[in-house]
Amino acid sequence: MIRPFQRIRPPGIRIQLMLWYTMVFAFLILCSDIVLYTQLRTTLITSLNTALQLRSQQIASGIANNGGTITIQDVTGDLSNSDTTTSDMPDASLDIEFGTFVRILNANGQPLRISPAFRTLVLPPISVTQPLHGSDWQGTVMTRGGQEVRLYSVPFTENGTTFAIIQVGESLTQVNTALHSLVLELLIIAPFILLLSAVGSYWLGTHAFAPMNRLIHTAQRIRAGDLQQRVPVPRAYDEVRALALTLNEMIEHLDQTFTRQRRFVADASHELRTPVTAIRSMTELAQLKTLTIEEYEHTLDTINKEAERLGHLISDLLALARADERRVMLEQEAIRLDTLVEAVVANAEGLALERGVSLQLHVSQSVTVLGDEARLMQAVINLLDNALLYTDAGGRVSVKIEATSTYALLTISDTGIGIVPAHLPHIFERFYRADPARTRKEGNSSGLGLAIVEWTIHAHKGTIAVESQPGLGSTFIVRLPRVCAPSQSAFQ
Ligand code: ADP
Repeated sequence: MIRPFQRIRPPGIRIQLMLWYTMVFAFLILCSDIVLYTQLRTTLITSLNTALQLRSQQIASGIANNGGTITIQDVTGDLSNSDTTTSDMPDASLDIEFGTFVRILNANGQPLRISPAFRTLVLPPISVTQPLHGSDWQGTVMTRGGQEVRLYSVPFTENGTTFAIIQVGESLTQVNTALHSLVLELLIIAPFILLLSAVGSYWLGTHAFAPMNRLIHTAQRIRAGDLQQRVPVPRAYDEVRALALTLNEMIEHLDQTFTRQRRFVADASHELRTPVTAIRSMTELAQLKTLTIEEYEHTLDTINKEAERLGHLISDLLALARADERRVMLEQEAIRLDTLVEAVVANAEGLALERGVSLQLHVSQSVTVLGDEARLMQAVINLLDNALLYTDAGGRVSVKIEATSTYALLTISDTGIGIVPAHLPHIFERFYRADPARTRKEGNSSGLGLAIVEWTIHAHKGTIAVESQPGLGSTFIVRLPRVCAPSQSAFQ
C-alpha cells in the first residue's frame, strides 16, 4: 500500500534553492524594515523632544519670580487660551491635534496656567514629582481619547529653589501617521522584492545547472554505448569541472576495460579454434580408414598433443578469469624459495638436455617467502620454460637465488634470441607473442604464460622486471618480500 506522503515527491534542487533564497530574503527584509522603523521613530521623537525643550525655554523666558509672586508673560502665544482653573474637565469641542499642551505649576504643584488641550491628558504623578525634586521628566502620555502625546516637564529654579514647573506637550499623531504610512509602504514593497528574488533565484539556479545538464546529456549518449564520447569540461575550477574530469576518467577506464575484454574474448576464441580445427581435421583423416598403423599412431599422437595444448590453454584462461574476478584465494604459508626453485630446475633438466641448453643454478643463501607454493611454482616453471624455449642449442640458462634484508631475488637469464625493445612493454599482455613463428613451431605456447606470472608475482606483493637485448638474451628479475626464517611469521 502506498502511503499518501510517499506520493509527494520532494521538490527539485532549483525549487529548493529558490525557497531558501526567498526565505533568506524575507528574513533580511524583515530585519532591515525593523531597523528602518526603529531608527525613524527614534529620530522623529528626538527632534520632537528638542522642539519641546526649546518651547519650554521660550515659555520660561516669560516667567518671573518677584519675591514669591510669579508673573507670567505669554511669550510664545501658547498661553492665550489658558486659565487658572483647577478643573480637570476638558472642553468637548477641542481638537487636540492642533491644540497646545502647556501647563505651568507653582512649587506646590498647583496649576498657575493650563491650556485647554492639556486638560485631556492622563498624567502619571512622576511627571510632576520628578521636576519638583529638581530634574526634568519626559515621556509619552495618553489623552483621554487614547491619543499619544509627548510631554516634557522641566523645573524652573532661582537660586537653587524650584518655584515653578513648566510642562509642554506635543501630539504624536503626526509621527505615528508617518510611521504607519512607512509600514504600509514597506508591506506593499516587500512582496514585490520577494517575488523578484524568487524569480531571480530560479533563473540563477537554471543558469547554474546548465553545465550539469550538458553532462547529463553526454552521459546519456555514453549510456547508449558510445564510449568514445567525453563529457565537456568547463574551464572554471569548480565542482562541475571536478565531476566532468572524474566522469571522463571513469569513461576512459571503462573504454579501456571493454576494449581489453573484447580483444581478450577475440584472442581466446582464436586460440581455442586452432587446436580444435587441428583435432577435427586429424579425426576426419582417420575416418577415411586409408591410413597405415604408423600413420594412425602419428595422427593419434598429434590429436593428443593438440588436446593437451587445449587443456593448458583452458586452465590458463580459467586462472586469469578467476584472477580478474578476484576469486583466487592465495595460500599464505612460509615457503623456502630456494628449495622450490631447485625442484623446478631439477624437473627442467631433462628438457634442457633435450634442447642442448646448459642449465645452471646458483643459490647464494636460503630464503623464505610467504605465499602460495603451487602458484609460485607455476610462475617459476613458466619463466624457465620460456628461457629454455627461446634459447637455441648450445646456449645457456642460469637461475640465481639471492636475498637482501627485505627481498628475495630470483633471476632467470638466458643467452637466447632476446626481445626487441618494441615488444618489451607488451610481453606481459595476454596473448602477446613477440615471436609467433617460434611459439607456434614449438607447440605448447598460449601467449598467457607471462600474464599469469605477472599476476602471481603482484598477488604476492612482489615485482617482475625484464631486461633483454635481441640476439644476446633476456633476464627476468623477480623480487618477493621475504620473511624472517626463524619465526617465519612476518615480513621484514
Ligand atoms: P608464450 O606462451 O608465447 O611463451 P608468454 O606470455 O610466456 O607466451 O610470453 C610472451 C612472449 O614473450 C613470447 O611469445 C615471447 O615472444 C616473449 N618471451 C618470453 N620469454 C622470453 C625469453 N626468455 N626470451 C625471448 N622472448 C621471450
